[in-house]
Amino acid sequence: MVAKTIESLRDVVRGRVVEPSDPGYDEARSVYNAMHDRRPRAVVRCADEADVIAALAVARKNQLALAVRGGGHSVPGFGTCDDGLVIDLSPMSWVRVDPDKRTAQAGGGARWGDSDHATHAYGLSTTGGIISTTGVCGLALGGGIGYLARKHGLSCDNILSADVITADGRRVTASHHQNEDLFWALRGGGGNFGVVTSLELQLHPVSTVFGGPMFFELDAAGEVMRRFDELIVDAPEALGAFFAFQIAPPLPFIPEDRHGDTLCLIVSCWSGDLAEGEKVVGAIRDLGPVVAENVGPLPYPAFNSAFDGLLPKGLQHYWKADFVKTLTDAAIAAHVEHGSRMPCVESTMHLYPLGGAVHRVGRSETAFSHRDVGFAAVIAGMWPDPADNQANTA
Ligand SMILES: Cc1cc2nc3c(=O)[nH]c(=O)nc-3n(C[C@H](O)[C@H](O)[C@H](O)COP(=O)(O)OP(=O)(O)OC[C@H]3O[C@@H](n4cnc5c(N)ncnc54)[C@H](O)[C@@H]3O)c2cc1C
Repeated sequence: MVAKTIESLRDVVRGRVVEPSDPGYDEARSVYNAMHDRRPRAVVRCADEADVIAALAVARKNQLALAVRGGGHSVPGFGTCDDGLVIDLSPMSWVRVDPDKRTAQAGGGARWGDSDHATHAYGLSTTGGIISTTGVCGLALGGGIGYLARKHGLSCDNILSADVITADGRRVTASHHQNEDLFWALRGGGGNFGVVTSLELQLHPVSTVFGGPMFFELDAAGEVMRRFDELIVDAPEALGAFFAFQIAPPLPFIPEDRHGDTLCLIVSCWSGDLAEGEKVVGAIRDLGPVVAENVGPLPYPAFNSAFDGLLPKGLQHYWKADFVKTLTDAAIAAHVEHGSRMPCVESTMHLYPLGGAVHRVGRSETAFSHRDVGFAAVIAGMWPDPADNQANTA
């Protein structure tokens, strides 16, 4: 039976179809960035591939706008729409690991926390984002920068194959050997090439990592940035790290009289031998005057979810990002000027180094072509109160 309307979808799909008159509609339509207050005609919580095919058929038949949602973290709000259909893949959050082949299959709605949980049981992992609530597919299809990228490449470099339902309802597999053009596009081109119902990822031995945040005085920020740039270029690839501006949150390891001060910090994550990691991470201490630090060994899933609590669903988000080849003096000066004016504790600027394995993939090998850049700079404006939207966006 093929559903032709949203109403008849209910008879066909195994997941829930949530319409405006249904209980739970407001929860079902909400996405991570609360700036996107959209009202779709229905949210289809797809339980499996058949549900995705059925929902696509209804959207096609009725010429409905369609949004695909994995982890729901799209800052521009691509996981929702007004007056259309949302394909919500969150019930498809399964992750299946093949420890012998060192691969994992992740369902279209799996989040990095689901992946970390499943793969850690075998002492394995792959490059994911720095917050565990982001979607595996959404992040990996757009590139995917994370702690393990210098050693193991971007998330998209670790995609081995993808099962995709195309807009016309066909199911195809894309890999190095099948539908190669689609496979090229999926690795960095974003989510608009179809609905990915399953992603096969390469895993690597990663279990307990060594690192954490190290806060420095704000007036040394320019020097810390410059010296971080020099350190990271030659650092062993097992060192993942990023520089940030951050108002000190009320965390127990930060002296109470510094809570609320704007500082800069380096978050490091060493994924190699732990004794060596203590030395490599220890060298970061010499980059400037340390105000507070919380570094040590941690299981990778705990490390990768350590900042989740600071960024719950429902904040207002306005972000800008770019790639830079080198950190010029002028760029550092601009970052110091504006980074020092962070409006609130949720907001930040992160500077992610993109060397090592990321540079070993050719510029035209995947749709993610930024293979010669030094850093990705992400200005992440995040705050709780919509009344601050105009001021903070500006
Ligand atoms: C708090 C936060 C932290 C972040 N940290 C990082 C980071 O460390 N590294 C990094 O690289 N990026 C990071 N990002 C950016 C993130 O990768 C993107 O926002 C990503 O698109 C989110 O994916 P999602 O599945 O959670 O979002 P969604 O809103 O569900 O999806 C985003 C886009 O991906 C598409 N999509 C999602 N799943 C599928 C699927 N199964 N099939 C087809 N299309 C799909 C959607 O159509 C949509 O266009 C972060 C974002 C936030 C808000």
